[in-house]
Amino acid sequence: MSAEILDGRAIARQIQAEIGTATSQWTEVRGIKPCLAAVLVGDDPASQVYVRNKQRACARAGLESRLVRLPTSACQADVLKTVDALNHDAGVHGILVQLPLPEGLDGTCVLDAIDPLKDVDAFHPENVGRIAQGRPRFLPCTPHGIQQLLHRYGIVVSGKRVVIIGRSDIVGKPLALLLMQRTSTVGPESANGTVTVCHSRSPDLAGTARQADILVAAIGRPKYVGPEMVKPGATVIDVGINRTDEGLVGDVDFEAVRQVAGHITPVPRGVGPLTVSMLLYNTLQAARLQHPDRH
Ligand code: NDP
Repeated sequence: MSAEILDGRAIARQIQAEIGTATSQWTEVRGIKPCLAAVLVGDDPASQVYVRNKQRACARAGLESRLVRLPTSACQADVLKTVDALNHDAGVHGILVQLPLPEGLDGTCVLDAIDPLKDVDAFHPENVGRIAQGRPRFLPCTPHGIQQLLHRYGIVVSGKRVVIIGRSDIVGKPLALLLMQRTSTVGPESANGTVTVCHSRSPDLAGTARQADILVAAIGRPKYVGPEMVKPGATVIDVGINRTDEGLVGDVDFEAVRQVAGHITPVPRGVGPLTVSMLLYNTLQAARLQHPDRH
């Protein structure tokens, strides 16, 4: 058996086209464009690529974007001052601070300083709390992208056993929250999973992973998930992005696992492009929240 490959890039383009249509309708009525401001501190090459990709995607979908660059030498007060200025700038609807921040800066403190109404990464504790309670303002980008991908390939989550390897605040934990809710942006079939979250202290990881109908790897270790960890026919979602001598590889041993799985995402062109699309989705949502309909 060879798994069907879930083409994240194609789905991401589809979603961006939909956002483009919704954005142009909104812009026509309001006379303004939704605007995403990115704060990039330092000169980490990967972060520069990520920010550039996000800006290009904004341009393709008809959103405005701004980039505020600060030097590696910027101190905590400099970054907080930048965030504060963007919070008070009525022309900016969404703010993202590209992570990781250079050593010595307190990322949590910076993210907490973003106005929750402009927090398009959904990292602010107020927004995380709302997600946990099933009344989200913004949905976390990578988890929401995964949910969209599953939906658009007709892979039902409801009633399925989901195993997520990784418990980070960016991927594992919020994905668990989305997939265990009663419903989703695309209806109850893409939620209502029975979710298990594993981490570095989980015993018998392979045994737990093998029970999954939907297995998600968000670990940050190249090719960590092998075929012995996958139930035949399972859907395997690889979130990992690891830079190795072979180039970019995921957390899943793609070539070996595709022989066992029913569906699998590749790296690159899997989950990554969806994360960017859902950021645009949140920016449009932020603009709508800041300019509510008056009737
Ligand atoms: P973190 O490093 O924050 O979290 C990794 C998680 O994996 C932790 O919970 C850790 O456990 C767990 N883990 C590590 N080693 C093992 C192990 N041997 N067995 C079981 N669990 C283990 O990473 P992120 O969640 O931020 O990112 C994960 C990967 O996804 C990275 O490669 C990152 O680059 C990528 N990524 C991709 C995105 C995309 O858009 N495609 C977006 C965000 C991230 P513990 O908590 O016990 O330490």
